[in-house]
Amino acid sequence: MKMYTYKMKTGIKPSREFAKKGLASHAVNIGLKCGHGCTYCSTAAMIRAHGAFKELGVSPFDNTYSIVDPTTPERVAHDAHYIRKRGLVQLCTIVDAWSPEAQQFNLGRKCLEAILSEPGWTVRILTKNAILAKDFDLIEKYRGRVLVGLSITATPDKRDVMSVIEPYASSIPDRIAALRDARTRGLRTYGMLCPLLPGIADSPNQIDELIKIATEFGSEEIFAEAVNPRGRGLILTQQALKDGGFNAESAAIASIRVRAVWSEYVTNLIKNLQRSVRTHSDIKKLKFLLYPKGLEKHDLEEIKQDDGGVVWLQ
Ligand code: SF4
Repeated sequence: MKMYTYKMKTGIKPSREFAKKGLASHAVNIGLKCGHGCTYCSTAAMIRAHGAFKELGVSPFDNTYSIVDPTTPERVAHDAHYIRKRGLVQLCTIVDAWSPEAQQFNLGRKCLEAILSEPGWTVRILTKNAILAKDFDLIEKYRGRVLVGLSITATPDKRDVMSVIEPYASSIPDRIAALRDARTRGLRTYGMLCPLLPGIADSPNQIDELIKIATEFGSEEIFAEAVNPRGRGLILTQQALKDGGFNAESAAIASIRVRAVWSEYVTNLIKNLQRSVRTHSDIKKLKFLLYPKGLEKHDLEEIKQDDGGVVWLQ
């Protein structure tokens, strides 16, 4: 994977969108294109108009390169010191601070150090890379101020399927092992089950297993989400699965490109999560992030009848 470096302007930025999601009041991003290369990643669709892509002469939807800014920790340190109204920072929201290119510059740890050395800040880490565990020594020093999250996007038996669509992220078992390590060290954790793809991670049994994993590691909250249908993510995922010989999974992804099927998939996902969380955890912990646009009217009505654990977004 090719790596570009690109100097960005922001350090710690307020994020109304992530505040609405209940995830964080601020965001830090160490680049513009994540080298984990997940086929369903929605970042490209969100920031496709960013001038960096034109400047570098690359397509935002091409997953064969990363864009990272090694100078991010300097701006983060500046902002952590000068911003008066402090809060919860998510590291990161559109890329991953422990991705391979971020690791080259030790950006995850440097950003953590920059934020945590100033009082009044807390940090929500979100990564798909188990290398985060090497920074648990630092997190232990600030254990009350850091929430550790490793996205668990499928059950461990699906590791081969996931390796096709999350090619440079850690395997699911490695991410679970890192969460176990965090739990053993007494770190604060939360669950991030996102995205739960159709035909891969949305059956009642699979969801039960995922909720049990999140519960076992002491998750303070359990966030979950359907796959984002915007951009080219579904097409790329469908194709990668087909190329990898996972034809049934590829067909399941293809099916939700039809609005009515996507709507039904989301509705069933919510129901299965609610049932499982009510059985194995506490419904107050569930935060299903739902963009209702795209739902069929009857599905929307059904969800409204029991929206326990649903976070309604625009
Ligand atoms: S880890 Fe997250 S930011 Fe990185 S490619 Fe995957 S979905 Fe995108």
